[in-house]
Amino acid sequence: MRTQVAIVGAGPAGLILARLLACAGVHSIVIERRDRAYVEHRLRAGVLEQTTVDLLRAAGVGDRMDREGLVHEGLYLQFDGVRHRIDLRELTGGRAITVYGQHEVVKDLIAARLAAGDEIVFEADDVRIVDSDSDHPTVHFRAGGEERTVHCDFVAGCDGFHGICRTTVPAGALSTYERHYPFAWLGILAQTPPSLDELIYAHHERGFALHSMRSPELTRLYVQCAPDDTLDMWPDERVWEELHLRLSTHDGWRLHEGPVLEKSIAVMRSFVVEPMQYGRLFLAGDAAHVVPPTGAKGLNLAAADVKVLAAALIDWYRTGRADLLESYSATCLRRVWRVEHFSWWMTTMLHRAPGDDAFDHRLQLAQLRYVTSSRAAATSLAENYVGLEHV
Ligand SMILES: Cc1cc2nc3c(=O)[nH]c(=O)nc-3n(C[C@H](O)[C@H](O)[C@H](O)COP(=O)(O)OP(=O)(O)OC[C@H]3O[C@@H](n4cnc5c(N)ncnc54)[C@H](O)[C@@H]3O)c2cc1C
Repeated sequence: MRTQVAIVGAGPAGLILARLLACAGVHSIVIERRDRAYVEHRLRAGVLEQTTVDLLRAAGVGDRMDREGLVHEGLYLQFDGVRHRIDLRELTGGRAITVYGQHEVVKDLIAARLAAGDEIVFEADDVRIVDSDSDHPTVHFRAGGEERTVHCDFVAGCDGFHGICRTTVPAGALSTYERHYPFAWLGILAQTPPSLDELIYAHHERGFALHSMRSPELTRLYVQCAPDDTLDMWPDERVWEELHLRLSTHDGWRLHEGPVLEKSIAVMRSFVVEPMQYGRLFLAGDAAHVVPPTGAKGLNLAAADVKVLAAALIDWYRTGRADLLESYSATCLRRVWRVEHFSWWMTTMLHRAPGDDAFDHRLQLAQLRYVTSSRAAATSLAENYVGLEHV
């Protein structure tokens, strides 16, 4: 098999890249370890920045998002039992976020790609990249019981944090920067309308809680838990009890309960690899960096990477110039580190760490009061949350 760009991974990074390249007439093959149903039903992120919404629209895959996505012009920060609204639209000159599940984005991208007759190889085993430091890299894998080889000009490593692309790079060529957090998120998807029409980020002495949603009928809720907690420690009754406690306000507001459709625990880490390229292998999305989910940035950062990568590849095919490809990592890392800082900042402001004492608690409250009372501080949060246009 021969293609121009071999893309490993059919998550948001790989599929958006494939779409952007196809729109410019650059051929690619997407190689994915899982089956189609699995990637289309994997529940993960749900908040799209304005920049991601604009990118999906420009790529011609925004129709269902525009019909079914929920546009949010604000969010709530809650502490000491009182809710404070951050008016995203007003503070950012008209920008907003759209609540639309990552798996819906993935479904739209897969449908568009297959409708155009372009290839996604699902259930590809034992994917290996060879000669990524040469002009003729190859990707080998097994699919449908056959060994296959893809000859290409470039490889895009879009296979997430646990993928193989990053580990293909020789030891010593990459530097990693990492932080682990002493807490995790237990998330549920509940069959009940959201209890409020916007997200609530709640600081509480028992730990953080988040009220979010996936649709007018489905609520997504999270409670901070310990990183080594298991699901059997969190029966539904305990989850609802903690959510009621942490999200309660002094004005009698009530959280809606409903059947729990899905429950999972996500560990939290910050991680960056530098540089994000090695020879003709380019890493994008979670393959190159991970953020804790508090800032709702993982999917958006993946989209931002592949926007830069697609432009660089398209320029190479059109003009033969390699300068945009050569600066790919440096260009992306400026945004990556801004977003790493924002995600870390939101996380440390809102969570209770095991060793935290009354001093830490008061610092968090001082910061929350400042963010909700100073227009300058609120604007900083808002412009990062909706996505910075230029970093
Ligand atoms: C449980 C969970 C909850 C999350 N919640 C949020 C949230 O609320 N908000 C937010 O912004 N972000 C969230 N994130 C982060 C966000 O989902 C990721 O940042 C986003 O998925 C990154 O997209 P990606 O395409 O880079 O990687 P992924 O979505 O991980 O896609 C990588 C793809 O590569 C495939 N793959 C892996 N290994 C191989 C291989 N060897 N060969 C071929 N294919 C391979 C995988 O199957 C997958 O389809 C969450 C992540 C997790 C794990």
